[in-house]
Amino acid sequence: MYRCSIQKHSGLVMSLDAFYFDGRGSRRHPVRLAAGDGCLLIEGENGARAVPAANVRASEPQGRAPRTLRFAGEAAFCEIGQSAELDALLAALGQRDSIAVRLQKRWRWTIGSLAVIGAMLAAAYFWGLPWGARMIAPHVPIALMRGVSKEALERLDKHLFKPTALPEARRQRLTGGFRALAANDPALAAYGEGVILLFRAAPRLGPNAFALPGGQVALLDELAGLDMDDAEILAVLAHELGHLAGRHGVRQFIQSSVVAAFGAAWFGDVSAAAAALAAALLDSGHSRDMEREADDYAAAALQRQGQSPALLASALEKLETAHRAKTRRNEDGPAGGYLDWLSSHPATGERIRRLRAMRRVPPRRMRRKAKNLFNRGDHDGHGEKREQKLDAEFTEDMEKNF
Ligand SMILES: [Zn+2]
Repeated sequence: MYRCSIQKHSGLVMSLDAFYFDGRGSRRHPVRLAAGDGCLLIEGENGARAVPAANVRASEPQGRAPRTLRFAGEAAFCEIGQSAELDALLAALGQRDSIAVRLQKRWRWTIGSLAVIGAMLAAAYFWGLPWGARMIAPHVPIALMRGVSKEALERLDKHLFKPTALPEARRQRLTGGFRALAANDPALAAYGEGVILLFRAAPRLGPNAFALPGGQVALLDELAGLDMDDAEILAVLAHELGHLAGRHGVRQFIQSSVVAAFGAAWFGDVSAAAAALAAALLDSGHSRDMEREADDYAAAALQRQGQSPALLASALEKLETAHRAKTRRNEDGPAGGYLDWLSSHPATGERIRRLRAMRRVPPRRMRRKAKNLFNRGDHDGHGEKREQKLDAEFTEDMEKNF
């Protein structure tokens, strides 16, 4: 039989604090444990001994409880706290965890890696995908989007939309206002002549307006039929122009295409993926950031025309009132089931407060400008230049909406 001796060890593997019980009394002796030459080496103040690794039986790990190392045929044993070092020491002794422990560890590992994969997929979906879409969107030819939008519109005309019943004169007024809002805006230049206002009715959709990624903006009679004046409706249309300027529809189209492609690859069902794509096109559930961007765009566009951003806030309020009334009505009848501008445009209260806080003219810059004009004094010779600079800043500020 192979016997180990403490003298002939070589290649020691670390040294851990433990307690040694001799099996005769309850006294514990502090010792150091090490592994070497296929033995467990125990060294304490009363001497040292070596136990062949084959004779060492380690208890199974249970929670954080200390583990015991028993020696075959002996009453003596060691007690030692759990640690990665102990695992290494046992591994050096050639001790393997029982199948149950190994399965438990593997199970934990599996759950852990599934959680990591899940987190990575979620990060890819919530951050990676929108980021990628934002990067790609400016490079997608609008002509391509126009084709897709035209097809989507034909589909909607066939299944959902009805011809408008708005009087011709009102349509002309709204079209004129819409053109003025969109005119000379470099952010819309890529759409060329494609930025057009369409009038439709859709009782099943409720009060709504939306922008298709090709540049078409559709206004539904149901929205125009609310107690809103033309200025408020134009504020809503300015918001939709903001979605065009930010290419939000293109971004959403890219995102839903990627998701649909993944869905088709995963489920092998292309038609379901195509249906999801059509639904995503229709349901303009923009992200909060996109709504904010579109609101900012609308506010700046209104300010450029000497109008107040509060027009959009009051339009939102009226939509919300209509939305509430409708929800109340639907409590008795069939469930809602149709979307309107509000349900696809979340966090209305916050948006209304934000728009109300904006003025017809940005207040901070105005005050600064007035102050500078007062302090300037014409004799310094730089006054005119400075005023020009301030005017440029002012215009720029108006455009990007402080
Ligand atoms: Zn929106």
